[in-house]
Amino acid sequence: MKTEKLPHVVIVGAGFGGLETAQRLRNAPVRITLIDRHNYHLFQPLLYQIAIAGLVPAQIAYPLRTIFRRQRNLTFQMGEVTSIDFDARYVRTNGSVIAYDYLVIAIGGQTNFFGLNAVEENGFQLKSIESATGTRNHLLKMFEQASRAADPEKRKALLTFVVVGGGPTGVETAGALAELITHVMTKDYPEMDLTEARVLLLEATGTVMVAYPAGLRKATMDLLRSKNVEIRLNTKLTDYNGRSISLADGGRIDTYTLIWTAGVRSAELTDRLGVQQAASGRVRVEPTLQLPQRPEVFVIGDAAYVEDANGQPLPMLATVAQQEAKAAAGNIHNVLQGKSLRPFQYKDPGLLATIGRNAAVARIWGLSFSGFIAWVIWVALHIYRLIGFRNRLVVFIHWAWDYFFYDNQIRLITRE
Ligand SMILES: Cc1cc2nc3c(=O)[nH]c(=O)nc-3n(C[C@H](O)[C@H](O)[C@H](O)COP(=O)(O)OP(=O)(O)OC[C@H]3O[C@@H](n4cnc5c(N)ncnc54)[C@H](O)[C@@H]3O)c2cc1C
Repeated sequence: MKTEKLPHVVIVGAGFGGLETAQRLRNAPVRITLIDRHNYHLFQPLLYQIAIAGLVPAQIAYPLRTIFRRQRNLTFQMGEVTSIDFDARYVRTNGSVIAYDYLVIAIGGQTNFFGLNAVEENGFQLKSIESATGTRNHLLKMFEQASRAADPEKRKALLTFVVVGGGPTGVETAGALAELITHVMTKDYPEMDLTEARVLLLEATGTVMVAYPAGLRKATMDLLRSKNVEIRLNTKLTDYNGRSISLADGGRIDTYTLIWTAGVRSAELTDRLGVQQAASGRVRVEPTLQLPQRPEVFVIGDAAYVEDANGQPLPMLATVAQQEAKAAAGNIHNVLQGKSLRPFQYKDPGLLATIGRNAAVARIWGLSFSGFIAWVIWVALHIYRLIGFRNRLVVFIHWAWDYFFYDNQIRLITRE
């Protein structure tokens, strides 16, 4: 069969959703073009490990051309998709125009600052390799500057680290940062009194980990407090100028470090597509994941708005993106074979988050538990889910070293 005669599937985004879709269409009678602005797939759940000097970027990112080396029906193109013409059926990138027969939009999300421009400008976020590496450089610089700060007030502000957002990313970051100070920085800076250092977790609502059962929310708070993280619930931030946080209740926290993990929205391109959007800018889709009136277009992952059986939006999670990818690829198969399409149904695999050394919370198969066993499951699952045997092995060795020697090996301040 001449490959140019085969239907052309264009997949925009090679994150969790796009990657899974492309792999599921491996044996389909289609030509695939996969487009991403990066030449790698990024395992975002471990970005916080880069920020706290636990891992290097190459351990959680993998080159796309290597992943698809053996997939004969796929071509990768690195580029930024700037617009999509749904009538003429093509996508425009910064350099090319690519026509499609079927389109899968899997462009993910971006940090939502809810219009707090000063926070976006002066704070840090964990969404890309650059932002996580920038956060690591900044955190390490704070200790260097504190070590030579004569003014005690300034030193206190340099050693105050504020994480905003009590979801899994905020909890994981705060816990890991507190441990970096207790186990590692105290050894690196024996001349400093690091009992002065504080890690604060600010949460606007009355609880952390809102999606978790009450027992696990309490366990999370207990574990965080045992690692000296100060949790401030019902605390809303209104402004941040790079040195001081203003709170809605009139309070102030002097700090040079604010890490914002309090919101995600769909990627910016969704705002320019002229399609119907729902909460967080996500694109409304049919139960089959097709764009309304555009049966040849599928939207999946963080960019798509899909409700569960109770009318609640599915969370922005890798597991949702991967299951939607499987469903979208299945429906493309169905269209090609003249079969009817199947609506997507999410199967919740449970919840899992780590709070640092020997500490995690989990809800698996309806069972809630926390502590060492949950932590072992978290470690095993995250190593398993990394792409590439080499990465799995290296991360395993890295973590084992850090575990036994109380170390975070990547304590390098590099130029940005
Ligand atoms: C710090 C952090 C921790 C997380 N922890 C967890 C966790 O523990 N468990 C969990 O299940 N989920 C977690 N998530 C969420 C999870 O990473 C996302 O839900 C998942 O990545 C969504 O998959 P996706 O395919 O929709 O988008 P993504 O994986 O974000 O992929 C989108 C891709 O599209 C590309 N792209 C975007 N716009 C364009 C454009 N215009 N042109 C070309 N390419 C473009 C991007 O470069 C990217 O590669 C975490 C996220 C973050 C940021």
